[in-house]
Amino acid sequence: MDNSALQKLTESLSLKYFKVPFKHKAYFNKRLRTTGGRYLLTSHNIEVNDKQYAKFGESAIIDIIKHELCHYHLHIQKKGYKHRDKDFKRLCQLTGAPRFCSAIENYEDRVNYIYQCQKCDTRYPRIRKVDTVKMVCGNCNGKLKELKN
Ligand SMILES: [Zn+2]
Ligand SMILES: [Zn+2]
Repeated sequence: MDNSALQKLTESLSLKYFKVPFKHKAYFNKRLRTTGGRYLLTSHNIEVNDKQYAKFGESAIIDIIKHELCHYHLHIQKKGYKHRDKDFKRLCQLTGAPRFCSAIENYEDRVNYIYQCQKCDTRYPRIRKVDTVKMVCGNCNGKLKELKN
């Protein structure tokens, strides 16, 4: 996924879950380490940790974007946009967004499924179940198999 795909995804999630357009920029920031993403109060842009995508795929990115969009829309509407604010908690609940800008470690804690390529043994930890008929190994296009813990 590149920046323009991330931008499109953010715009479509904004319309789908918030019913309001996202009019600023969303892009990957390679330097983010402790957070999954962040919303910039001055530029209104959203930055996403690219390692979260590499490790956990699109569902992790969707969670991060939904969380940052909660900050974004509330800030723009001059409502409580901080984690402890009532408006923020309510909007997270309403849109199914996680309440915190999860760090990588938190995502690892949330991994429920691990898939392994049957050809090259690359492992893919995922938060949600994936369709192994549709999803193949990003490395060699091999078939994936779910590992039982
Ligand atoms: Zn946050
Ligand atoms: Zn493979």
